[in-house]
Parts: sequence; C-alpha cells; structure tokens
Amino acid sequence: MSDNEIIATRTVHRGAQRDIKTVKADICVLGAGISGVAAALEAAKLGRKVVIVDAAPAIGGQAIGSIIGTIIGLYTHGPEAYQITHGIADDLIKDMTAEGSLLRNHHWTVNFQYDEVRLSRWMERKIQEAGVTAVVGAVLTDVSFKNRRVEHIDFATRFGALRVEANGFVDSSGDATLSFAAGLAVREPTAPIFGSLNFLIEGYNLDTVKELKMPEIYERLTARGKSYGLVRHDGFLMHFPAKNFMLANISHFETPLDPLQSANMVFEGRRQADAVLEFLRKEFGHIFANARIRAYGNPGIRQTRWIVGSKQLTLDEIRSGVRPADAAARCAWWVELHNAKELVHWERLPDNHVYYIPLGCMTPAEADNVVAAGRCVDGDSHALSAIRVMGPCIAMGTAAAHSLDLAGSGSVHRIDMAALSKRLYDNLDRRV
Ligand SMILES: Cc1cc2nc3c(=O)[nH]c(=O)nc-3n(C[C@H](O)[C@H](O)[C@H](O)COP(=O)(O)OP(=O)(O)OC[C@H]3O[C@@H](n4cnc5c(N)ncnc54)[C@H](O)[C@@H]3O)c2cc1C
Repeated sequence: MSDNEIIATRTVHRGAQRDIKTVKADICVLGAGISGVAAALEAAKLGRKVVIVDAAPAIGGQAIGSIIGTIIGLYTHGPEAYQITHGIADDLIKDMTAEGSLLRNHHWTVNFQYDEVRLSRWMERKIQEAGVTAVVGAVLTDVSFKNRRVEHIDFATRFGALRVEANGFVDSSGDATLSFAAGLAVREPTAPIFGSLNFLIEGYNLDTVKELKMPEIYERLTARGKSYGLVRHDGFLMHFPAKNFMLANISHFETPLDPLQSANMVFEGRRQADAVLEFLRKEFGHIFANARIRAYGNPGIRQTRWIVGSKQLTLDEIRSGVRPADAAARCAWWVELHNAKELVHWERLPDNHVYYIPLGCMTPAEADNVVAAGRCVDGDSHALSAIRVMGPCIAMGTAAAHSLDLAGSGSVHRIDMAALSKRLYDNLDRRV
C-alpha cells in the first residue's frame, strides 16, 4: 500500500446484545500490586493457569504508581538482621541490584531503595515470562458468589466488558474490593488512618545533601511547617546516590472510600508536596535552593477496608511472636500506625524479633475459594499497620498461591497445613 492510498473503513454499531468476553483460569488475582504480582508468579510456578487483573493502566500497584521507593520488611531488625522472606524477593534483589536499580541500606534494619521505573519493567517482564495473562485498565464491577464460592468476576474496560471465571481467587486489591463486592463481611476503621503522596525531588545540591539530617527537618516542620500549610512533622527524605533523586514521604491526608473524594486526595497530596518543596527551599536553602519536583506519585493509601478472616491478627500476637499452626508468613516490621496527622505512632520490637501471619487472617470466613493478600488481610489496626509493608506482602502473595493450589476445588479453610508449612519453609523457617 502506498503512502497516498486511503485506508478503507467499515461502519459498525454496537449489537443489541452487550458482548462480554470471558477468560477462564485456575486462579484469578485481583490487584497487581506487590502482593498480587507475588501471588501470580508463585501460582504460575506451580503450573496453574493464572489471570491477573488491575484497574490501573499498568501493573505494579502502589509500589510503582505511588512511588513507595523502599522495600521494607524483608529482614529482621538490628545489627544481626537476617532475611525472612525469599522466593520472588530473592530474584528481585538479584536482578535489580545487578543493574544498579536497587540500593541496600542497613541501619536499624535492611531496606532496599528502588528505582520505580526499573521495578515496573521487572514486574512486567516476570509476569510475561511466567505466562501469566495480565489484564490492565479493568475495573471490577460485579462478583458472582454462590455456595461460599466466587464463580466469576466482571470487569469494565475501555474496550468492553470482561468476565474472569476461575477456581480460586486472590483478593490483593488493597481495599478488599473483591470480598466487599462478593457481599462478604469486611472491616473499616472508624477513625482516619492517613495516607501520603510520595514524590521525587531533583536539582538539589549533591554535595551539601550529605549534611541532610532528618531530626533537624522534623524540628523545623514542628516549629514552622504550619505556616507553609503542612500538617505532618515526621516522614522521610531519602537521597538515592546512584540516581541523584530523592524520595519524599512527608505528607498526610485522609483516604476515604468515596468515589467523589478520590480526586481530592490527588489535589491535597500534590498541594502538600508543593508546600514541602517550598519549605525545603526556604528553610534548608543550602541543600534545596534549586530543587524541583520531578514526579508526583498517586495518593498512597495505607489502611481503608479489609476482610473479616477466620482469624484476626492482634497487636498482642505480634508482641509475643507466638507461632500459630497455620503460619503463612513471617514478619519483623514494627507497628507503624498513621493515626494522627502530625506524627506516626511507632512501636519498636526487639532486635531479631519475628512474628507470624496466620493463614486464617488471609481467608475470608464466609468463602471457600478466596484468599486475601497484602494490605487488606485481617488484623487489628495496629497489627495491620505492621504487616502491610512490602516484605510481608510478598510473603502473603506466595502463601495465597500455595493455599489455593492445595485447596484445588475444596476449601482453603481445610487444607493440609503441614504441607503448606513445608512449601513455605523459606519464608517461615529458613535462617540464611
Ligand atoms: C505512602 C506510603 C508509604 C509506604 N512506604 C513503604 C515503604 O517504604 N516500604 C514498604 O515496603 N512499604 C511501604 N508502604 C506499604 C506498602 O507500599 C503497601 O502497603 C503495599 O504496596 C500494598 O501492596 P498491595 O499489593 O497489598 O496493594 P496495592 O499496591 O494497593 O495494590 C492493589 C491493586 O488493586 C487494584 N484494585 C483495587 N481495586 C480494584 C478494582 N475495583 N478493580 C480492579 N483493580 C483494583 C489497584 O489498582 C491496585 O493496583 C507504604 C505505603 C504508603 C501508602
């Protein structure tokens, strides 16, 4: 065809009947954040046909879209910290360290600063290599739930309706969307748990940034932050030396479950980000005089709505570290509850203290083929604030895949726990 030749068209109408495209899978994962991606990759490794679906136009969830910036919770705390979650975490650490997109820091624990653009590509590549069917830009509209089982989920996409039928479902939606839409009981906090809008700063002085001391920032935020329109007095500014950008996690706003108010989170989060920049430029000009915002993340949402599991993890269980018979993941992150605008409530746990997430916290009590993973599993407000970070999210995604695999067409409430423990050895018992 020559460049001048007009391309022929045809005229079409939508038919009287609305088409719905159907995909069938063994396991459907709703939500492609870090926990959903971990679940999908593990289920594919087990030979299952997997579909992962997300409302966002790309996979990665908050880890990518909200520029979370550091992976925490993969190690215990203290000078002798050791790794407690392996599997896909090992692949991620190896691949991204090799290309210079992951920076390991060991202060009071080991954390990993990451370049979100590279992590996004890593996740996409892994999902494709594993043969997982990924659907993006698809918002859940309905769930068919009968006899304690989800039969299928319907989605709206820009290009028409989609239905996913599967034997087992992972609710890694962050807000227990699948469970809620299925009519299952869910919990919502009765007081706000604040979110933050992370952003990247560039153009600051790369020599004087070595003098940046967070306690000085906190002091100044407390004394003068209000005059800049800022509400939070703590948070993080993390310079990524190899990349010459800095992650800022320093705002606080409410994250209501309301369709009209979600845009307000964006506007309020960006307003606070701009105010932080102005504060830094004026109050710490020797570092930030020429700084500017390179990228705003999407509003970062911490705890909104979560399942009612057959068990609920409590703060006391976290403190005691008691290991339940149905242990599914091992954690060490401290309690980090964002229940006040000004300051985060931290509860430090002893060095090398570990505690466990029971499978019962991941299995909605009223359903047989749904397992939740990530920030919408069942815990009291304090326990959930500790287990919602990315290390445990990876471990929960892994456990969700194995429990659905073991359940087959039976119930996730009646799987062989000894077999599950054996499969999850690396995330429950391994010490090196
Ligand atoms: C500001 C902030 C800072 C944080 N800092 C850190 C940190 O430094 N290190 C760390 O490890 N953790 C941190 N965390 C915690 C951690 O980032 C999150 O808890 C974790 O990323 C949650 O992962 P997830 O997979 O459970 O959920 P998400 O990443 O929220 O993924 C859920 C996915 O489900 C999709 N979804 C939801 N509803 C629907 C629907 N109806 N239809 C279709 N798709 C849907 C969403 O689009 C989304 O992609 C932070 C959290 C916040 C908010």
